Amino acid sequence: MTIALCPGSFDPVTNGHINIFERAAGIFDHLIVAVFNNIRKTPFLTIEDRLSLLQESTRHINNITIDAFDGLLADYVKDKKADIVVRGLRDQNDFFYETAQMIMLKRMVPDVEMVYLMSEHKYSYVSSSAIRELVRFKGNIEGLVPDCVEKTIKEKSIH
Ligand code: ADP
Repeated sequence: MTIALCPGSFDPVTNGHINIFERAAGIFDHLIVAVFNNIRKTPFLTIEDRLSLLQESTRHINNITIDAFDGLLADYVKDKKADIVVRGLRDQNDFFYETAQMIMLKRMVPDVEMVYLMSEHKYSYVSSSAIRELVRFKGNIEGLVPDCVEKTIKEKSIH
């Protein structure tokens, strides 16, 4: 059984992320989506909100588990016995960033393979930081994030 891991901040999860999960879950036997809980940063959404929004927006994917981790990704990969780390690539910036991340991870877990899925064109400009910026200035996020994310942000009237 091939276990793939998709780590990220998902603050908040976007339709670009969901598209990567759907495609990765179609390729590998099991997909773990793991929220990096960076205790040194003040997040936009709490870890609890991010986890429950990920649960809700991935209900249609059968072979997926939602989890959280802190500390080193390498330790978490070993702990979960993951074979593959999946990352989405939007552009050259993601590519350069991922190159350094990949070298560091392979140094610590030589057996793990990294698999990169190119973003679908319609999501290539969608990022969590752009969503946070839109929310801050009361811009329209409809169609860019799952409905439950839009609803939660509205309810909490975060800005
Ligand atoms: P972000 O960069 O949006 O803050 P994360 O840190 O949560 O996102 O990233 C998790 C993974 O999802 C990374 O591999 C990132 O490159 C990828 N990703 C983020 N947004 C998209 C998108 N719109 N299309 C494809 N992959 C994406």
